[in-house]
Amino acid sequence: MSQTDMTIFEKLESEVRSYCRSFPTVFTKAKGYKMWDEKGTEYIDFFSGAGALNYGHNDPTMKAKLVDYILSDGITHSLDMATAPKAEFLTTFNDVILKPRNLDYKVMFPGPTGTNTVESALKLARKVTGRTDIISFTNGFHGMTIGALSVTGNAFKRKGAGIPLQNVVTMPYDSFVNDNLDTLEYLERFLEDGGSGVEIPAAMILETVQGEGGINAASFEWLQRVEQICKRWGILLIVDDVQAGVGRTGTFFSFEKAGIKPDIVCMSKSIGGYGLPLAITLIRPDLDIWAPGEHNGTFRGNNHAFVTATAALSYWKDENFEKDIQEKSERIFKFLERIVADYPELKGEAKGRGYMVGISSEVEGLSGQIAAEAFDRGLIMETSGPKDEVFKLFPPLIIDDEGLEKGFKIIEDSVKAVLG
Ligand code: PMP
Repeated sequence: MSQTDMTIFEKLESEVRSYCRSFPTVFTKAKGYKMWDEKGTEYIDFFSGAGALNYGHNDPTMKAKLVDYILSDGITHSLDMATAPKAEFLTTFNDVILKPRNLDYKVMFPGPTGTNTVESALKLARKVTGRTDIISFTNGFHGMTIGALSVTGNAFKRKGAGIPLQNVVTMPYDSFVNDNLDTLEYLERFLEDGGSGVEIPAAMILETVQGEGGINAASFEWLQRVEQICKRWGILLIVDDVQAGVGRTGTFFSFEKAGIKPDIVCMSKSIGGYGLPLAITLIRPDLDIWAPGEHNGTFRGNNHAFVTATAALSYWKDENFEKDIQEKSERIFKFLERIVADYPELKGEAKGRGYMVGISSEVEGLSGQIAAEAFDRGLIMETSGPKDEVFKLFPPLIIDDEGLEKGFKIIEDSVKAVLG
């Protein structure tokens, strides 16, 4: 097979390209937790499309349903017209996910991406409350459009975009637990101080585990206190579950174990199930005051994605699926803790929850070197955090023991090689 000239990307694609720099090869094929490039090299995928492939690549059931649908000339594009795949998705999502968890959200289709759901949530919170301020958190990541970027606590991503930070207050994330600085107490004092003319915010937006910001997992206690403050002051709680949702932290929604019920939930990435673009905004029913067409978009709901998204929900009908994720999560975390203990030169810390974990190294540049070494040895994983200080383990939820063990071995060999 002739091989693609890698200089094509340099010559023709914008300088903004990133993953093709971190993983410099041409990928051709993928199945489950494995990917192959055009040279035939096999890679273990500990990246999962940045969380868009929680069910792995080319899941056979989803593929069969999609192929059948395409062969039957099923409708592809339909804006937000009524279609059978949309009805099936809504019904299955309600029956399999919402009802058993005592949740009764209305489902909005805001556009195809995570950024779209965040934008719709921020807009709705302002519309419902009639207020404008939004509280966001340091190292939070919510998307790349101007609105979503303004609540994203990442200087590099914001640099040069000329973001007006009006009406957004960024507070330290879960520093209550991490730094002995009680952010939430500080926030409450601020809100109580009516004399200074402090405006009550419309919403708080947060990730329960920050993905791009360095795999920072907020404690359940902190999340519960956030919810209490929101209730006390009539502030809407928006949980951005774009990356942490769909099982990534061990439960379908990342906030389930904390026992909180956000007013609005943002989901995308793995909700489509097959790597197909789909986003949903879950809205507490009494907040669903949108006028028809007030928020629209050409690609609101992709019927191919509805077909695979519905098929993906079958995994959640089997209670062993969740148990298996949680059991394997413990093993993954134990592995990370052992690496941190066995290689003190890493100056590492094991972080995260579920299948959303990593090691943060205090040694500058080390995590990036380990990820690059792992790629050369056949494992795909990325780095995250403000200084790319975390190498991030994001295997698909369907990975088997053999895949995990192979991945662990490559990581340990890479750590050894980089530390010399
Ligand atoms: N929110 C979070 C938590 C994310 O991780 C991301 C993507 N990394 C987004 C929003 C934006 O999603 P998208 O890239 O699909 O627009």
